[in-house]
Amino acid sequence: MRRNSVLAVAFGLAICAGVLPLLAAYYISRERAFVLERRHLADYAEWTLQRADLNISRARTALETVMSEQRETCSAADITRLQEITTATLSVEEIAITNGGRVICNSWGPMRDEEHVSGEPIPLSDGYMLRLNGGGLSDPSQGMLVVSHGEFHALLKRERLVDVLHDTPMLLGIASLSGQPIMVSGDADPALVSRLVSQQVSGFNESEVFSSRRGKDFAAFAISSRSVVDWRTDGQLWKMIPIGIGVSLALIALVVWISRQRLSLAGELMTGIRRKEFVAHYQPIIELSTGRCVGAEALIRWPRPDGSTVRPDHFIPFAEDHGMIGQITELVIGNVIANMKTALVEHRDMHIAINLSPEDVESGHFLTVVSDALKHTGVETSQIWLEVTERGFIHADIARATLTKARDAGHVIAIDDFGTGYSSLSLLESLPVSVLKIDKSFVDAIGQNAATSLVTPHIIEMAHSLKLEMVAEGIETVEQEAILVQSGVQYGQGWLYSKALPFDEFMAFYKKRNAGLEDGGAAVPVGAASGNV
Ligand code: C2E
Ligand code: MG
Ligand code: MG
Repeated sequence: MRRNSVLAVAFGLAICAGVLPLLAAYYISRERAFVLERRHLADYAEWTLQRADLNISRARTALETVMSEQRETCSAADITRLQEITTATLSVEEIAITNGGRVICNSWGPMRDEEHVSGEPIPLSDGYMLRLNGGGLSDPSQGMLVVSHGEFHALLKRERLVDVLHDTPMLLGIASLSGQPIMVSGDADPALVSRLVSQQVSGFNESEVFSSRRGKDFAAFAISSRSVVDWRTDGQLWKMIPIGIGVSLALIALVVWISRQRLSLAGELMTGIRRKEFVAHYQPIIELSTGRCVGAEALIRWPRPDGSTVRPDHFIPFAEDHGMIGQITELVIGNVIANMKTALVEHRDMHIAINLSPEDVESGHFLTVVSDALKHTGVETSQIWLEVTERGFIHADIARATLTKARDAGHVIAIDDFGTGYSSLSLLESLPVSVLKIDKSFVDAIGQNAATSLVTPHIIEMAHSLKLEMVAEGIETVEQEAILVQSGVQYGQGWLYSKALPFDEFMAFYKKRNAGLEDGGAAVPVGAASGNV
């Protein structure tokens, strides 16, 4: 990713960071508005139930008074008393007395017509009955509810059951527990009403929000239009938008900060490349059967002005992502040849391994860089090994073409970190590779109970059968070394021998390590690790 790409990604992320929290604020406000409205409606359904119970219990009290005073003869005194009780009882419009179902009088006087109580009674708790229509009880009784006990009847207006004051527009309704609607304070969809009274629900559809409640005698419900939710959403937005703006600003600041970091690392890397700040350190490679140092792997280091050194893991992947790795490889090749040319000419059996990135393999540019750098040095191309990880084989045909050119030029090709990728056996056979570097994780597993410890012998066996030489990476103990020697692994590198060393220290190590051997004496004992990282 180059500077422009970083800016483009940062711009995209900043837009997302700015917009997404605001969308989230709107979404949360809307959801919250729905929840609040449903809760609000559930409260009103509950209050409607209480209102209905209150009215019914007033009717009961009135009837209890009439019954306790044994007023069943419809005498003038009885009628006067019925009137008094009716007037004194809120909600009750009329009280009537029947005889064998025939109405004989009500609070307004005796009945002359042959009128009978009609309508299917719905049992209420406490032995009372409810009829949804007054029937023939009296003229004004049309459309009235009747609460009865035996031959005594109290009449109530249906709307009394739902006359609950509400703070937002809504419909209130009440029905019997069996689902028979008693009163709805407006026009409601009958299908919705029957759903609401048959079970306790709370929800919404395309146009309405609703909640219902069930009590001991009735089911009540409240329905409001979704426009109320819009209004509530606006209210919630006032609270959520400032939070959304805060989160947006914080995220935008984070995106800007990360982009500046990345741009500054990109900038620093570019400056580092321009100033050729990178140096190669050398980690000795040991012939395991003799203990002799046969060469080294060049590992890049980036010294900083404050005296610290940046390790490759911290900038190589970034350089790979930002299209700068080719220039870095070029610097490493130049550095290695400048450092090592004399030593390589002096010690023909010494080699230096250079790491390549997938992009190098893809472009093949390193081939010209190496051959130019080697011109007039007297160094054999076979003394420069090239390490490629399995990631470098993703485009197998291109990799094969580049590596074949490198092999034909005389270089030794090694597969780095073997076992951590997914290259198949057939792919391996088809590549011009002659060395396999066993990844440190498999060396670490030697002698352990880990699942990877079962894989190590297979890797070694496979390398033998493909006639590949092996370098074991990251050897840290003599036990690992002993098992590797026993398994026929030819070379090794690791802290058991030495960490990666600056050029001078590596040459000192090389000479000291091999001195005894060249004199015919014993090799420097294994484990004599030295040097810095
Ligand atoms: P690598 O090529 O697999 O190098 C081996 C890494 O293992 C090195 O880390 C080395 O210091 C470390 N190592 C060796 N022996 C031991 C040991 O006994 N114990 C432990 N714990 N570690 C050990 P380093 O130098 O940090 O390099 C890391 C990776 O960076 C390298 O892995 C390689 O993939 C990459 N790299 C290094 N230099 C270059 C370069 O010039 N070009 C490219 N493209 N990549 C490079
Ligand atoms: Mg390597
Ligand atoms: Mg490696």
